[in-house]
Amino acid sequence: MSNRFSGDQLPYEDFAYSDGPLVDAFWPTTVPSMANLPQLDGDIRADAAVVGAGFAGLAAALRLADNGLDVVVLDAHYPGWGASGRNGGLVSVGSAKLADKVLDRRVGGDDAQRFFAAERRAVEAVFERQALMNIDADAHSDGYVFAAHHARAIDGIRAYGDTYRQRYGLAYRFLDRVAMRDAGLASPDYCAAVHLPLGGAINPLKMHRGLLTQALARGVRVFANSEVTRFSGQFRLHTQRGSCRARRLLIATNGYASDSLPGHRHRVLPVQSNILVSRPLTDAEIDAQGWHSQHMVVDSRRLLHYFRLLPDRRLLLGLRGTVRASGASLQATRARARVDFDRMFPAWRKVETPYFWSGLIAMSRELLPFAGPVPGLANAWMTGAYHGSGVAMAPYCGELIADLALGRGKEPHPDFMKRVPKPFELGRFRRTVLPAVFSGYETLDRFGL
Ligand SMILES: Cc1cc2nc3c(=O)[nH]c(=O)nc-3n(C[C@H](O)[C@H](O)[C@H](O)COP(=O)(O)OP(=O)(O)OC[C@H]3O[C@@H](n4cnc5c(N)ncnc54)[C@H](O)[C@@H]3O)c2cc1C
Repeated sequence: MSNRFSGDQLPYEDFAYSDGPLVDAFWPTTVPSMANLPQLDGDIRADAAVVGAGFAGLAAALRLADNGLDVVVLDAHYPGWGASGRNGGLVSVGSAKLADKVLDRRVGGDDAQRFFAAERRAVEAVFERQALMNIDADAHSDGYVFAAHHARAIDGIRAYGDTYRQRYGLAYRFLDRVAMRDAGLASPDYCAAVHLPLGGAINPLKMHRGLLTQALARGVRVFANSEVTRFSGQFRLHTQRGSCRARRLLIATNGYASDSLPGHRHRVLPVQSNILVSRPLTDAEIDAQGWHSQHMVVDSRRLLHYFRLLPDRRLLLGLRGTVRASGASLQATRARARVDFDRMFPAWRKVETPYFWSGLIAMSRELLPFAGPVPGLANAWMTGAYHGSGVAMAPYCGELIADLALGRGKEPHPDFMKRVPKPFELGRFRRTVLPAVFSGYETLDRFGL
């Protein structure tokens, strides 16, 4: 096996893979600047090589190191540079984008149940890991709130609450507009909500930094600025200034994967997600809006908004639906996010929003996440496609493929996740479907359909 990556094997413009989208990111201001990690220089060996140092790659590395393996992690930029260091911090289920009934039909009842159990386990594991590793990740939000942006969406949010009850035996709470106001969730944009009692919110970069500290402490060798640009033999991973020979290969590159990575060709569709963060709000501003809930909120739009008051009382607002990756497009999306912010929180029209950034999430053709062997390649595993819900699922899946690499199973691990996803029909042009999909979603969202 031998191949070389190049720009046309990345689905987006170069801007998406540069530091451009991160210039005004908020999370990096909340952690000390990162210790200088070395670049791989020269030829080294390891029992296992992990490509990608996000949640998935680090969780895999920790699992392997805990089981006595000598592990090397290579990242093209630096650990946490990808989605893991720039997400909204919502810890929730939702890594498949299929309704329960459809999932049930497609993968069978037993596997669907295994998947629901895996997702729940993944959510619980985030908070267990935090406690066990003594990571202060600013956790808050007891479960999360799913809000209806239109009267026609109310049945849908109730149905989602019912889904939760069926899956997990957990009761949800319905909030009408008055109950929302009483709960400190007053916004003209929302007419009702359900509170779902599973999950919460964290500062993702603090969590990621905690995992990195643990990995380094266990002797994992982590290299920054070390993009794997070529593979030879089984396995030699080549970077700009060195190479790593390893018996086992684990790929955890998710939305930043090149089509040239083993097993990845046209199988992952990256989609941009964006976040706006305000300055801290004063007591008077909080009262004027009537929004003081500590709950994470996700809304019923197809092009969804996710938002929450951070512990230091900044409002974080996330949104999807950007097609191009460029400086101009980032600014246009920032302006659109600000319009949404003003509509959702009219009392904060004069509040500055100095932070805005974007990053790539990943989808698969079947709208399901994967964590299994690289097809046709012994001793190689890959994971990804968490559909924007990877804060819980990415580290869980990192552990799943680590356990496969250790020659044992970890449960629950649905069978469908072990199968490689289908390639997208449009191949390297797969991204061209997004404008039509987004504009269709916008229309449906406008009418609450
Ligand atoms: C703006 C935004 C908001 C989000 N909000 C939420 C949320 O609130 N809740 C939630 O659950 N999920 C959210 N997500 C999704 C979540 O962040 C991701 O699913 C998760 O972080 C994926 O982790 P990962 O480790 O698989 O990938 P990443 O964290 O993206 O890491 C992949 C790494 O691979 C590296 N890499 C790629 N190619 C190579 C190569 N050839 N050689 C070496 N290194 C390489 C990259 O540099 C990168 O660091 C959000 C994502 C974004 C972008």
